[in-house]
Amino acid sequence: MSENNPDFNNLHAWDKDFVWHAFTQMAEYEPLLIERGEGVYLFDTDGNRYIDGSASMWCNVHGHRHPRLDAAITTQLTKVAHTTNLGLSNPTTVRLAQRLADITPSGLEKVFFSSDGSSATEAALKIAFQYWHQSEREERNVSPNQTTHRTKFVSLGEAYHGDTLGAIGVGGVDRFTSIFSPLTFEAIRVPGPGMTASMSSSGDGGPRIDASSQRTTAAATLHELENLFENQGNEIAALIMEPLVQAAGGILVHPPGFLRAVRELTQRFNILLILDEIAVGFGRTGTMFACEKEDVSPDILCLGKGLTAGYLPMAATMTTAAIWNQFLGSHKDGRAFYHGHTFGGNPLAAAVALESLKLFDEENLLEQLPERIQELHDHVARIAKLPHVGDTRQCGLVAGIDLVANKDSGCPYPWEKKMGTVACLAARQHGALLRQLGDTVVIMPPLSISTSELGELIDAAETAIVETTEGAVNIPIGSLQS
Ligand SMILES: *Cc1c(COP(=O)(O)O)cnc(C)c1O
Repeated sequence: MSENNPDFNNLHAWDKDFVWHAFTQMAEYEPLLIERGEGVYLFDTDGNRYIDGSASMWCNVHGHRHPRLDAAITTQLTKVAHTTNLGLSNPTTVRLAQRLADITPSGLEKVFFSSDGSSATEAALKIAFQYWHQSEREERNVSPNQTTHRTKFVSLGEAYHGDTLGAIGVGGVDRFTSIFSPLTFEAIRVPGPGMTASMSSSGDGGPRIDASSQRTTAAATLHELENLFENQGNEIAALIMEPLVQAAGGILVHPPGFLRAVRELTQRFNILLILDEIAVGFGRTGTMFACEKEDVSPDILCLGKGLTAGYLPMAATMTTAAIWNQFLGSHKDGRAFYHGHTFGGNPLAAAVALESLKLFDEENLLEQLPERIQELHDHVARIAKLPHVGDTRQCGLVAGIDLVANKDSGCPYPWEKKMGTVACLAARQHGALLRQLGDTVVIMPPLSISTSELGELIDAAETAIVETTEGAVNIPIGSLQS
């Protein structure tokens, strides 16, 4: 029991003193220590129970402490915890690679393992770059040092592909990344559907457009992409995007047909398509992979988060055989992909990822999602009627709820009021852990959540939103985290 631990009283102080938390203003941080989990619930060191409304940052799939997942790790532990995948392999990782090639859309056959999503997108960008470098060198017979043409990347406004320098170069959430712009390469950014040009450049979360006008904006995005490809297509290595939902950008849901149309454009202009399914892969949108919904298979696919059911850090960059073939040759050709991560392909992570895929099958997880998705839809429709709720968006088992100062005009709250943050902190008092994106409250529970647990989660969110927008929450200002 934690109370018997002599360190217990120190932990809150040590958390503030020693731990630098991600995306957190540490001067204002108030600790909450989660000690254990069970299914969709998490318990803090005081024994309080919370429903895990953010799936522990969008990665938990089957709930916490699933006996089968726990057992998969302990079984692997009886063999080996870690060996390197630099020129060496192990049976568990090999099996996972084979399974991934099997379940991902056709054409994706090769798996490059790393340890987190940002690394998976970095690898994707470098693979795309080197692919063109080597294929053009071959075609035009130029010397290895001569620069080639296809060196540019295209991404969407409000895109999020991770926090490392390459990933923020193609990212579009300026409020996170603008100060690092001198250190990054500039991708060509095209405003995505569901946002205005001013919103994508200021990144301050201004009013969004509604669903009826969204199609025009999707058409505008496609038109801009087509122009860009026509004029500069032979300089562009790849387009990278999150299919169906731009998650960290504010749960921006693309209209049906958009992904398919982007895919057709990239094919027409011979530009590689990198799909970042780190947030939406593994069932989040209702199908195993989001791109299946539009019958799209990318040239490169990035996976992370739900890959290990949210248990251990692991990510993967998958490619077609056509890309892989451009890296083949003899040692002296120098065509290998000189890139790697110490823990890439870690056997413990691979073991739990394999078991998670088995659970998808044996527990018929995907078949159970439509009912949960409909339930979420009904709840969100109810919350949408609240006086300070503006736009709401949903795709599969993820929803975004915008808090606004004025429902009719969609006018946002002043950002200093941190209404989204306050609402999510208030939800803790009602037994739910939620995470905001600006003034958007995000609902992204483990996929295993039952309809009654989902009801409990949304009730907590609704109560917190009402309290917050009616000025009834009293959260000490010191505990406001950005
Ligand atoms: C979370 C996320 C990443 C980054 O993954 P990390 O494991 O946090 O590095 C990249 N792309 C998308 C779409 C994500 O949601």
